[in-house]
Amino acid sequence: MEKRTCLYCHEPMRGRSDKKFCCVQCKSSYHNQSTSSIEAYVRSVNKQLRANRSAMHRACPEGKATVRKEFLKKLGMDFKHLTHTWKSKGGNLYYFCYDYGYTQSSEVGKVLVIQQQHYMI
Ligand SMILES: [Zn+2]
Repeated sequence: MEKRTCLYCHEPMRGRSDKKFCCVQCKSSYHNQSTSSIEAYVRSVNKQLRANRSAMHRACPEGKATVRKEFLKKLGMDFKHLTHTWKSKGGNLYYFCYDYGYTQSSEVGKVLVIQQQHYMI
């Protein structure tokens, strides 16, 4: 039979075969650790979403602007993260971070950045 070890301290365990932890302390330490790593991940995504919003705001102070994707990246934009999408009547899909969004521009390497309008919500 395979030797089972505690998921937290990795010490060998005796007792019920479905046990995952050697003691209550190890169980709670393990769950605290995994909760804090999830929270750290959520915080890092939130931070990036705010950075994306800030980059688009700086690139587009007048509410609408065509800019190079590289320029947004230099301002801290990470195109992986967004809060929601919106499709225009013309069928263009916009990717938003809060109240700023972008869509592919017809110009290669550029995007059209817009500030969200009330009719988009
Ligand atoms: Zn343990």
